[in-house]
Amino acid sequence: MNNPTTSAPRVAVIGGGISGLATAHRLAELAPQLSVTLVDRADRVGGVLQTAEQDGFLFEWGPDNFITNVPWGIALCRRIGFADQLLETDDQHRGAFVVRRGRLHRIPQGFIIMAPSRMWPVVTTPILSPWGKLRMAAEFFVPPRREEGDESLAAFVTRRFGQETYDRLVQPLIGGIYTGDPRLLSLQATMPRFREMEQGHGSLIRAIMRQVGRRTSADRNSSGGRYSMFVAPRRGMFSLVQAVADRLPAGTIRLGAGVRRIMQQNGVWTLELEGRHPPLPAFDAVVLATPAKATAELIQPLDGILSDQVSQIHHSSCCIVSLAYQRDQVSHPMDGFGFVVPAVEQREIISGSFASVKYPGRAPDGHVLLRVFIGGALQEELLELPDDRLLSIAHREMAQLLGIRGEPLLHRLARLPASMPQYYVGHGERVATIHERAAAIRGLFLTGNAYEGVGVPVCIHGGEKAAQRVVDYLQNGANK
Ligand SMILES: Cc1cc2nc3c(=O)[nH]c(=O)nc-3n(C[C@H](O)[C@H](O)[C@H](O)COP(=O)(O)OP(=O)(O)OC[C@H]3O[C@@H](n4cnc5c(N)ncnc54)[C@H](O)[C@@H]3O)c2cc1C
Repeated sequence: MNNPTTSAPRVAVIGGGISGLATAHRLAELAPQLSVTLVDRADRVGGVLQTAEQDGFLFEWGPDNFITNVPWGIALCRRIGFADQLLETDDQHRGAFVVRRGRLHRIPQGFIIMAPSRMWPVVTTPILSPWGKLRMAAEFFVPPRREEGDESLAAFVTRRFGQETYDRLVQPLIGGIYTGDPRLLSLQATMPRFREMEQGHGSLIRAIMRQVGRRTSADRNSSGGRYSMFVAPRRGMFSLVQAVADRLPAGTIRLGAGVRRIMQQNGVWTLELEGRHPPLPAFDAVVLATPAKATAELIQPLDGILSDQVSQIHHSSCCIVSLAYQRDQVSHPMDGFGFVVPAVEQREIISGSFASVKYPGRAPDGHVLLRVFIGGALQEELLELPDDRLLSIAHREMAQLLGIRGEPLLHRLARLPASMPQYYVGHGERVATIHERAAAIRGLFLTGNAYEGVGVPVCIHGGEKAAQRVVDYLQNGANK
């Protein structure tokens, strides 16, 4: 291994969100002899994964669960002895709603993001007009696209299913996942499996009809997202972060340490910190697990072109208002996990989540906890409003849509500026270029949600792959 100053090679990980924590944890698993320092500007690890408890309510700051059909989240939980802390969604209430003309309607059973696996619920739904349903069914006969290359999610969906299915179902579902604008988002980088279905079977409906026999009945009956595949830590997302952090060797984590600049001389890296902190010297390798904007700023002096490429990955902002009520204040049966709001409805919220229905332990008996998403790529200007305005928007919208009487008992408002990366059309090629250029800077490694996936398990995988590359580099002198 390289050895500039001490006997134990030193690695700096910048960013203590789940990506950086997974990197540091994997480094400790792969090469316990390394000396790893993880720095974060904030005074807590976890990045957007934060949880607070008050009066028996459990408030999640950002994410509230993660998917298990990509294995890396659950695999890490098993390795650190955390798997017994994971709760599954409640089978009884699976499913979600979409707003049409100011009312909640159940998303047709079996309709997963853009793929109807059951026809009868689509035929009977009041969400689409008869013409919209016919156009959706005609997807069976729409020939696959011949041109190679990426296209936007909106272009793909309108081409295959028509404008109405896009406006009324797919746009709000995608908006709910990426807080993004599907007219700009890349099909290839966000949902490549739908393109593969089109290419492999000629039509998504045909592909799904072939797959459907292989699914469990719970999956066939879910709608909106694949809820049966999600889990949440009993005590909230921060408890997962804490469990990972607790497994790191003592002294690994340094909080309140924002990095202003990274410098390399003769293969040795120094981190210049913000404020009056002295620099952190003598690292053999540096992993940037920061959002794209921060990464672009840090690498600007090293490679301006690489920095420009990274800075083109935009992160959208949103705000989540959590509202607690007594159950009898809410007249809606809340027999689902939440709802999404199509942009064509022209409301001021993106979606609402019934947090205490999704998972137990989120609210005391006789109470409910709701989460309201505001902003995102299509309404970013709303985030300029002060907290009290955002709070009153959230309460007013929920009151109208769910029939709520009276005021919330408790509320919390989380602002998540520049937090959700937007994978625009061409993202795959951009990321390939970024990896290629970054590989030329010896001892520098990039990870985080800006590149290969936004979900927690994919971020964990990205961090673990970065750790492996660091170990290979330190052992063989090979970069990446
Ligand atoms: C509103 C919202 C809801 C989501 N819901 C889900 C969900 O339900 N399930 C799911 O799987 N995923 C969800 N995601 C996605 C997922 O949570 C994120 O992609 C993931 O947590 C990002 O982790 P990260 O470590 O890459 O980045 P972050 O969590 O953003 O962490 C980056 C860290 O870098 C630090 N940092 C930045 N600059 C510097 C600097 N110069 N010096 C030192 N430190 C610095 C920051 O302080 C921060 O702690 C959601 C995301 C958002 C925004």
